[in-house]
Amino acid sequence: MANNSPRRPPSGIKVIVVGAGFAGLAAAIECDRKGHSVTLFDKVDNIEEITRIGDIISFDPNGSVAFERWPGVVDQMEAIARQTKHIDLYHHQGKFVTRQDFSHEKAWGRRINGHRGQLHNIIYRHAVDRGIDIRLGKRVEDYFEQDSPPQAGVVVNGERIAADVVIAAEGVRSRGRKIVLGFDENPKSSGYAVYRAWFPADRVRNNPVIKHLVENGDTHQGFIGPDIHFLASTIKNGTEVNWVFTHIDDGNIEESWQFPGKPEEALKYLEGWCDVVHELVKATPDGRLIDHKLVYRDPLPTFISPKRRIALIGDSAHPFLPTSIQGASQSIEDGVVLATCLELSGRQNIPRALKAYEKLRYARVHRAQANGPKMRERWHKADWNEVWKKPEMIHLIRETWLLNFDAEKDAYDRFSIVLEELERDEQQIKPRL
Ligand SMILES: Cc1cc2nc3c(=O)[nH]c(=O)nc-3n(C[C@H](O)[C@H](O)[C@H](O)COP(=O)(O)OP(=O)(O)OC[C@H]3O[C@@H](n4cnc5c(N)ncnc54)[C@H](O)[C@@H]3O)c2cc1C
Repeated sequence: MANNSPRRPPSGIKVIVVGAGFAGLAAAIECDRKGHSVTLFDKVDNIEEITRIGDIISFDPNGSVAFERWPGVVDQMEAIARQTKHIDLYHHQGKFVTRQDFSHEKAWGRRINGHRGQLHNIIYRHAVDRGIDIRLGKRVEDYFEQDSPPQAGVVVNGERIAADVVIAAEGVRSRGRKIVLGFDENPKSSGYAVYRAWFPADRVRNNPVIKHLVENGDTHQGFIGPDIHFLASTIKNGTEVNWVFTHIDDGNIEESWQFPGKPEEALKYLEGWCDVVHELVKATPDGRLIDHKLVYRDPLPTFISPKRRIALIGDSAHPFLPTSIQGASQSIEDGVVLATCLELSGRQNIPRALKAYEKLRYARVHRAQANGPKMRERWHKADWNEVWKKPEMIHLIRETWLLNFDAEKDAYDRFSIVLEELERDEQQIKPRL
């Protein structure tokens, strides 16, 4: 396959990436751009197992800035993304509260909101077009790292495959965490689950209560109530509809992107909610609703293995709650920063690259992650006496430090600074003789 995408001269660094989700693909593409040689493994036999699935996913400017560097990708994404510049927020009984406008964020970059599987497929195809060695149907069973020769690797079908560095991007149930942490650690329930639906707009267009949502192109609205927020989008010029709402996790569903939900079950959580919300749920065709458990993990003490040759990225390192609207963007940033650190350190200094990666990412990722619960509480525990006086209280958290940010530039700018900091830290903890 011809590789027409710009690529730096070969760095001599061999990288194994585990997982072809957004994190793994971003890492693979960025490593390829920077001249490293990449082999990517995913357990699925056919990429459609993960490019057909899912519903709305959001990339903010700090994530989409990477896509701009991958030829052709952004144009394809824009063609299927939601075209809105604001969100309208309502009280759950139907009264309009406030419009939050995002027009001014254009200067920071693009917001790309669209179908997860379709956006994923665009990035996957780009990775294929670059000629990246992607091996499907390869479940990584274990990881290893060693001093002599200095290597890390994975075990696939009992075979040990080695490289200079391994990037573990296998999502929330990562096996890479064991070698990084030194023990097995399971995700916890966040206490919440999410109903998620995506379907053609026909039934909405024929329903007088909700047809206004699809008559004038794309729309985006949120309905806020006690312990529940309900978000609805219309997309592709109002021809497709997506809605999601969180509910308390009764403990009766599994963590899966394919666990079927039933509209009549979903409606039980929405007693007393307005007609628009009820009609949207009722308009959902059979088989188009999933009920997805939201798991969470406490921040890990580290993202990198003891010998500094295996790095966790994306949900393996830090699962996000959807209310942060940053899980996908942060997973892209991880891949960008790691590839850059490898470029700047060179093949002889892989452990330094991984230490710099962790230092560049750790505080930022956890600060972004903390916005998830904060935003959820802002909506679920809203004091409506105050909100009616000051509607901006329920606006989405949109912070400049987070969104107006180019992870690649930051890594180039701060790489040597963080290495000096790390060396200083190491000097300080060395015992005095
Ligand atoms: C099928 C699917 C659908 C999703 N849909 C949505 C959605 O609609 N909206 C949303 O906001 N988020 C969705 N997510 C989550 C979202 O994609 C992630 O939270 C975010 O993008 C970070 O991605 P990630 O690459 O770290 O992890 P993931 O997206 O979970 O990707 C992990 C990848 O690793 C592979 N893998 C796992 N274990 C192994 C192994 N042992 N060996 C080899 N490969 C392995 C998996 O097959 C998968 O491709 C979905 C995730 C998946 C897997």
